[in-house]
Amino acid sequence: MTGRSDNPVAPETLAAQGGRTIDPITGAIIPPIHPSTTYARDETYAQIGGRGYSRDDNPTYDQVEAVLTRLEGGAATRLFASGMAATAAMFQALPPGGRVVASRDMYFGTPKWLRELAVPAGLAVDFVDTGDLDALTAVVRPGATRLVYVETPANPTWKVTDIAGAAAIAHAAGAVLAVDNTAATPVLTRPIEHGADFVVHSATKYLNGHSDVIAGAVVAAGEDDLWERVGKVRHLAGAVLGPFEAWLLLRGMRTLFLRVRHQSAAAQRLAEHFADHPAIAEVCYPGLPGFPGHDIAARQMRGGFGGMLSLRVKGGGAAALAAIKRLRLFVRATSLGGVESLIEHRHTIEAPDSDVPADLLRVSVGIEVVEELIADLEQALAG
Ligand code: PLP
Repeated sequence: MTGRSDNPVAPETLAAQGGRTIDPITGAIIPPIHPSTTYARDETYAQIGGRGYSRDDNPTYDQVEAVLTRLEGGAATRLFASGMAATAAMFQALPPGGRVVASRDMYFGTPKWLRELAVPAGLAVDFVDTGDLDALTAVVRPGATRLVYVETPANPTWKVTDIAGAAAIAHAAGAVLAVDNTAATPVLTRPIEHGADFVVHSATKYLNGHSDVIAGAVVAAGEDDLWERVGKVRHLAGAVLGPFEAWLLLRGMRTLFLRVRHQSAAAQRLAEHFADHPAIAEVCYPGLPGFPGHDIAARQMRGGFGGMLSLRVKGGGAAALAAIKRLRLFVRATSLGGVESLIEHRHTIEAPDSDVPADLLRVSVGIEVVEELIADLEQALAG
């Protein structure tokens, strides 16, 4: 590919142009998909294009990884087959014998993977409320803790962790900080700017944005030994993204800024509308001034507080389930970050060992007309 602009441009411009490459032969402005699993060698047995096998060396990755690296302000990115594959790689890459500290509030699958697979395999994990930096300081063990892993805002309570504070605590103990930035996206938060060493994404969500790709990514602030080991995990364990999915991901990322800004503004509207609603006990949303962690979120999130919120319905689990069944416009489905609004009763989905309150409905705000979303929730809550 040629035509790459070396002029530094705004992240919005970079994303909109998908990294901007123009095919020198055809002039195509959209990159091709490379389905080939293998690459030929010439008569001298040298690789023709510098690639040998496409397990994790697929040219379709290059542009996506380059764009995400720039959006996050990192040094390098590796795509994975899913957000969970990216998350797992972050832990699997640690040298044997190290401890990790993980947020108590995170996407359900992360602590489940840690408890059910990583801990039995020998990883020592301390879970803590990372929203409380004193608690984090108390649990991080200098010289022993290798990795602090946080998610902010945390799915589905949207609790906020102070990234700069967590980074300072991790670094003082000789550990690194990884941040799951799935919900905030680099549109709103760039964890590396706040001191994080790694950023993890379920690219399935906002980065792709159209509920049609499962993908993950790890972005590194620097290309150190741990980053090389993340690469080894991908290469040798092989949880790689398919080229078609990588191509779709780049297509989705072109509209990332438009989508996330719209979704954040709409989520803020919804949160404010239902904050004092007679049928709602609490709205969990970092954009509400009364929400714990709002001040930290206002500091580390730029231009909005994200498209995710949760509503706690008065009357408990039965009232929440009754309301969700009456919705006509919201789609009752798991996942988040797509252009269509989704709603989910996490307590049911995470059964039997869910910590999520039974009265909580998680809302992923799409790009529909926000008044129609509010009206749908209003009629569902009215019964
Ligand atoms: N991280 C967060 C915050 C998530 O919400 C999810 C999935 O919902 C994941 C990671 C896992 O991602 P994936 O489903 O792409 O494996």
